[in-house]
Amino acid sequence: MIHPATELRIVNETIGYGVFATTLIPKGAIVYVKDPLEIELSPARYNALDPAFRILADKYSYIDEKGSHIISWDIAKYVNHSCRPNTMSAGYGFEIAIEDIAPGQELTDEYGLFNLMAPMTCFCQSPSCRGCVSSEDIDIYAAFWDECVRDALSCVASVAQPLVQYLDTETYTHLLRYINGKGAYRSVTCLKAHRPTPVSIATVSSVAMIPEMAGKTRARRRRN
Ligand SMILES: [Zn+2]
Repeated sequence: MIHPATELRIVNETIGYGVFATTLIPKGAIVYVKDPLEIELSPARYNALDPAFRILADKYSYIDEKGSHIISWDIAKYVNHSCRPNTMSAGYGFEIAIEDIAPGQELTDEYGLFNLMAPMTCFCQSPSCRGCVSSEDIDIYAAFWDECVRDALSCVASVAQPLVQYLDTETYTHLLRYINGKGAYRSVTCLKAHRPTPVSIATVSSVAMIPEMAGKTRARRRRN
């Protein structure tokens, strides 16, 4: 599920659709949550697809750490890649704004965290464009991506979080423990398919709460 302050627009004829902010989405806002309405194709289901449907799955899905293709039921599937994205997948399974996203600005994501099945030529035109995006990029850039995510997580408790109610309890608990300085940080490397989950010790010392989650007790489906 994508952040509610977004809409679908045509970027241009070459790129096609993209997702744009309708109001300011602040750094630290959770912008995507994998919810129970998402279509989840296990590797077996994906491999059993007719090739024509596999092409569609390839185009509109990301691949999670279990190797499943996830196709969003809403416009989240139209978020484009940038080598200098303004949102990023966190090791907790949700995606987070890593900088303020102004009204009218396109939301962009780091496909290097999506376990791409084949390298993708990139035309994002950012100064740091890698030219090619692949599943191996995480081995090179994980430390930098973790820096971006940790910086954004430092703002989680101080900005509006309309999606936090859709986090499953386990993910929320991990997040809360981290921002309260009581739990380990989950690296983006947790998202790499078929890789054990590495953790490192949290460095955040301040105690924080996410107001929208006060009293939340019901479990939701977890992404990890
Ligand atoms: Zn690029």
